Amino acid sequence: MTDYNALKAHLRGELIQPGDANYDDARKLYNAMIDKKPEAIVRCVDVADVMACVNHARSNGILLAVRGGGHNGPGLGSCDGGLVIDLSRMRGVRVDPAAKTAQVEGGCVWGDVDHATHPFGLAAASGIISTTGVGGLTLGGGIGHLSRKCGLSIDNLLSVDVVLADGSFVTANDQQNQDLFWALRGGGGNFGVVTSFTFRLHPVSTVMAGPIFYAVEDAPAVMKAYEQFITTAPEEINGFFAFIVVPPVDLFPASLHMRTVCGVVWCSTASQERTAELLKPAESWATPLLVGVGPMPFPVLQSLFDGLYTPGLQWYWKADFVDHLTEESIARHLEHGSKLPSMFSTMHMYPINGAVHKVGSGDMAFSYRQTKWAEVIVGVDPDPANKDKIMKWARDYWDAVHPFAAPGAYVNFMMEEGTARVEATYGANYSRLQAIKAKYDPENLFRVNQNIAPKAVGAGS
Ligand SMILES: Cc1cc2nc3c(=O)[nH]c(=O)nc-3n(C[C@H](O)[C@H](O)[C@H](O)COP(=O)(O)OP(=O)(O)OC[C@H]3O[C@@H](n4cnc5c(N)ncnc54)[C@H](O)[C@@H]3O)c2cc1C
Repeated sequence: MTDYNALKAHLRGELIQPGDANYDDARKLYNAMIDKKPEAIVRCVDVADVMACVNHARSNGILLAVRGGGHNGPGLGSCDGGLVIDLSRMRGVRVDPAAKTAQVEGGCVWGDVDHATHPFGLAAASGIISTTGVGGLTLGGGIGHLSRKCGLSIDNLLSVDVVLADGSFVTANDQQNQDLFWALRGGGGNFGVVTSFTFRLHPVSTVMAGPIFYAVEDAPAVMKAYEQFITTAPEEINGFFAFIVVPPVDLFPASLHMRTVCGVVWCSTASQERTAELLKPAESWATPLLVGVGPMPFPVLQSLFDGLYTPGLQWYWKADFVDHLTEESIARHLEHGSKLPSMFSTMHMYPINGAVHKVGSGDMAFSYRQTKWAEVIVGVDPDPANKDKIMKWARDYWDAVHPFAAPGAYVNFMMEEGTARVEATYGANYSRLQAIKAKYDPENLFRVNQNIAPKAVGAGS
């Protein structure tokens, strides 16, 4: 066990170790399938704490993990036997309503941002759940309800403050450290600890949102019509296709409770009348079981699923980018999507188009700009006894549809799947990422992530 006394002397935040009363609580991850036991967890309260931890880990050869919201599927916000920089005490948000920007500390979750921006009639391009960390979601790309209108979270990132592997503190944006800024927009936690993100905000307050559900047997007709629709729909409309089990809550008619359905979860920034007009065709793709689209404040939409997906469930993720659907891939989706193994399990297809296509594949580290969807198959269940069941379902489903998909997957929807998969995900951007990694983190201190191996330009293999 490493001696952490020297580090402790430099900290304002709490250092938690095995044996401390709150150790088991502090090390818990959102995904209860992952059980990691770090040597020490530091709940940093400021940038100086982060710098002290980075310096301590580097100087003593200690494995280092960085935890934002703790939501990562394979638990890459923690490690076994090393030091965890836990940013969950660094959750300040400062909104500049005139400039329409928000400065967001590295440990915020999206609910913190929504809470701070909504009173100004503004919103950030985030995800679909309020409890997910800003840090991990943004650094991987950031796909959500506003993607088609506003782009990915990284497309709205204006500047970041970063603690690098050598313990120094830098700002990266379009004017300073441009290579680092390029790499951070999609390259995950590989390049340093981001202590502050500055985002462009959008005038989004009340949205027209909710699901349209159809019988699961209608999935082939719905998926075909949905592909055509979402490829050309105005950017103010976002909608992700899903197979879901309707939860037994008052929000949904009792007749649908626990029924497996397919559908699209819509979010429109257009007016009520225009949204109704735009979505009218979707009501004839098949006979809807429910048309549940209505006005709601954006933060309400963002937290709609929070009660369903509480911390401590078992999660197993499989993912792909998908360029288009075929008769056969749709048949395979129906086969597996109609057999969701639990009420929480699901398959989502998030559109990667609209405003997301306005950025080129080489403009930032996130390279899959020209694809149509980020697809994710997630087996989820509260009971650890069902772990094997949900994993098998997700793997079988993925094995069936992967032959029709692109080689890479969204890094934030992957488990630990090896270097080749990470390389396929970054495609032509991978070698530039390796060179930037070699410049900023040559010893690979930040390696508890979807890792990009450092490789200086001109270095052999
Ligand atoms: C319920 C749920 C819903 C989700 N919905 C969406 C969605 O709508 N859209 C979407 O794009 N993704 C979504 N995701 C996936 C999500 O983007 C990833 O799980 C992401 O890794 C979560 O980030 P985090 O900060 O919570 O995770 P963590 O586990 O804390 O961290 C994940 C990775 O990011 C790194 N990291 C985190 N913060 C920082 C930081 N400040 N500086 C440097 N590195 C950092 C960590 O080191 C780690 O490698 C969802 C996940 C869950 C569980």
